[in-house]
Amino acid sequence: MKDYIIRATAAEGYIRAFAAQTTQMVETARKTHNLYPIASAALGRTMTAASMMAIDLKNERDTLSIIIKGGGPIGSIVVVANAKGMVKGYVDNPFVDLPLNSEGKLDVAGAVGTNGKLTVIKDYKLKEPYIGQVDIVTGEIAEDITYYFAVSEQQPSATALGVLVNPDLSIKASGGFIIQPMPGAPDELIEDIEKKLSKTTPVSTQIANGKTPENILEDIIGEYGLKINQYLDVLFKCDCNRKRLESVLISLGKEELEDILKNDGKAELVCHYCNKKYNFNADELKELIRQASST
Ligand SMILES: [Zn+2]
Repeated sequence: MKDYIIRATAAEGYIRAFAAQTTQMVETARKTHNLYPIASAALGRTMTAASMMAIDLKNERDTLSIIIKGGGPIGSIVVVANAKGMVKGYVDNPFVDLPLNSEGKLDVAGAVGTNGKLTVIKDYKLKEPYIGQVDIVTGEIAEDITYYFAVSEQQPSATALGVLVNPDLSIKASGGFIIQPMPGAPDELIEDIEKKLSKTTPVSTQIANGKTPENILEDIIGEYGLKINQYLDVLFKCDCNRKRLESVLISLGKEELEDILKNDGKAELVCHYCNKKYNFNADELKELIRQASST
């Protein structure tokens, strides 16, 4: 089944919500990076959050990045998403492997670590980027996103993110939701939603059981007149290309490129996000050196 996000409102606009089903997106990420289960869960949760947060970007070329550096064995988690539902991402160490945590679940917090920062960058291309940064609180990612919204955007939220991995390491289910009260939302409304949230089954289990993003929001805020305003297909997709990698090489400068030409006679660059390899032979390197000299 195709992955998608919905954007919705309820209670005459006092609530806004996003929900996502991202099983295929995370499966593509897993295959691209040979992710072990904990890395699938950590990257999948981050990609799911980014896909929902990016839907709010105004322009097609704008991007939203989430960078998580918690000091744990997974290293950095880096994800970039846009408002067209394209998401790419990687982790430094895809082979991180830890025993299950005390609840018998994948130890995402142990892999991510709790000694570091979560950074959100909204790159508006034509104007200054927005950068928000908070301390990592649990390393489980959903709580960290909630904390980011509270501290950096002064926006209360409930965030749920989940990834279930099959015994053969493929992705069984992935998804999430973000529910946010708008200014002026009545206290009773918020309390009632909190009560419902405390009783919901984990979002990944709901998706594994065949629930759709619509069903998931319907269960929590359906009685307040859930209105779905947008559907958006999401997928793992990298937008790297040879031209961009050429400019990376040119930015190394003439001397560095001449060293590469002299020592290796060629260059191979690998895109972090999708592992695609770009090869440059001696003649191509000479052309880049020429371009680097004229800038
Ligand atoms: Zn790429």
